[in-house]
Amino acid sequence: MKGGKLIIFSAPSGSGKTTIVRHLLEQPELNLAFSVSATSRPRRAKEKQGEHYYFMSISEFKNHIKNDDFLEWEEVYRDNFYGTLKSEIERLWAEGKNVIFDIDVAGGLRIKRKFPEETLAVFVKPPSVDELKIRLKKRSTESEDKINMRIAKASVELATAPQFDKIIKNYDLDTALKEAHELVADFVGAKIEK
Ligand code: 5GP
Repeated sequence: MKGGKLIIFSAPSGSGKTTIVRHLLEQPELNLAFSVSATSRPRRAKEKQGEHYYFMSISEFKNHIKNDDFLEWEEVYRDNFYGTLKSEIERLWAEGKNVIFDIDVAGGLRIKRKFPEETLAVFVKPPSVDELKIRLKKRSTESEDKINMRIAKASVELATAPQFDKIIKNYDLDTALKEAHELVADFVGAKIEK
């Protein structure tokens, strides 16, 4: 596999990384395309098949594991599998794109290890675990039980931040967006006004 750059934004759930990734995708000079992950978790009301995720059953997902179709995969929460299909990256690289990922910390670091030269791995840090809790509750896409699972995972993930190339503190969204834009522009060699 060979092609453009890989840009990874990893962070605990609720840190705002999805907002940052969406903002970057709107910047044409970065020439980014979103890596659509495969997942076995249920589709949320506003999500579209093939746009937010490739939604599939657990057995379909396990078949892909057996066939070695994944660049990386993870059972992020119990029975909720998530993974990056090799075919997705090959497709986007064939289109001449730089690929941007919104994936969990373990998956992000795994891709960095596989493609150390091509990858920029960014960790998005939330102000605090308490603030995460508030954001996840406000989003209300998950049950109380699931939120608690995400919070427990967040504490472990925060400890991995030093392994990333860069850390962006998402305390103020506009500042974080600007910082992320500059960082990625530098990495892909795009000129922007600073
Ligand atoms: P959500 O269910 O909120 O969409 O995502 C839950 C977590 O799974 C998030 O941290 C998200 O970034 C992560 N995730 C999404 N896709 C992938 C993937 O392909 N691989 C890995 N390792 N994690 C993923």
